[in-house]
Amino acid sequence: MSFKLPEDFVKHLEDKYNRAIQDGAIIFNGDSAVSQVKEETAGESKYRFHITLLDSLKHRPEKGTEEKNPFAKPEPELTILQDYGPSQEFRLVANKFPVVPYHFLLVTKDFVSQNTPLSPHELLGAFSVLRTLKSSSKDNWFAFYNSGPESGASQPHKHIQFMTLPAQFEPYANLLANTSEPFIPSEVKEPLTDQNLPFRHFLAKLPDTQDIDQEDLTMYFASLLQRTLTTLKYNNASHISYNFIMTTSYMLMIPRSSGTYKNTLGLNSCGYNCLLLCKNKEVQDLVIDDGVLQILAACGFPNETIEEATSYHY
Ligand code: AMP
Ligand code: AMP
Repeated sequence: MSFKLPEDFVKHLEDKYNRAIQDGAIIFNGDSAVSQVKEETAGESKYRFHITLLDSLKHRPEKGTEEKNPFAKPEPELTILQDYGPSQEFRLVANKFPVVPYHFLLVTKDFVSQNTPLSPHELLGAFSVLRTLKSSSKDNWFAFYNSGPESGASQPHKHIQFMTLPAQFEPYANLLANTSEPFIPSEVKEPLTDQNLPFRHFLAKLPDTQDIDQEDLTMYFASLLQRTLTTLKYNNASHISYNFIMTTSYMLMIPRSSGTYKNTLGLNSCGYNCLLLCKNKEVQDLVIDDGVLQILAACGFPNETIEEATSYHY
């Protein structure tokens, strides 16, 4: 099954991105960004968050629709790979409004709803991209998928995103993943979780192998999705919303109760990967005053294991 990317994929990505910036096809939002790192404590643990103030978020469409859909016919200037996947069912497309350079997306060619779980092909497609990036880029890349009405997603056409972490920045999930050997969470072995964090999250450490296949990835993903669905059901949620973060080492899933904090701060998977984006000084003050941990808790679900006690999963 072929998810092989061209040998020079990273160079191609960089060239395409730089040309699109010059042509004005990409509207880079990061020039005026001012970032700071904030440390917060919960229990005996310390957590670091990367808070970015961006006064001039330009032209970022708030909400797309199936009719007004940028991924139905992506601009050629933004298209990094026109055909990707064994049935050429995907494209790789640069983000038109990035805050971080080289931010790009894997999109389905046909319209598929962003509310659907990731398929085996989508998981292997994203994982293969991550593996290629890991082998030929110095940066720390992660993939993320915002699914459901309260996940922070703005476009309804299926897209998985790829972004780099700030240099030398380790989100909590990196540290949590390092506490265990790989295993597929099951009835007898729960996914990894940090009891000091105030929001429900499920982490699976992936095996350190070149030949991890789509069945493996699907089992890992399904085990996290099961717990997420159980959490949503236990909390009487009327929707299925979660954030999903993947690297070559782990998968992390966070069930979501709300897409925004105090109707002011939009939060997606990046927020749960410790990257907060504030659109003005007032929002930044809110984040500093209320605290990131409290914000993440308010937009997720309480970190209690009670629902697992019934050993009932979907
Ligand atoms: P999300 O908000 O998680 O659904 O992600 C959608 C992403 O698509 C955002 O990061 C937008 O910047 C990006 N985007 C919006 N319009 C376009 C477009 N015409 N071409 C490429 N990317 C876009
Ligand atoms: P939105 O309100 O849909 O524009 O999404 C803003 C959200 O994007 C923030 O609240 C973060 O969760 C997420 N985010 C944080 N940092 C970044 C970043 N550097 N680039 C893109 N998105 C980010």
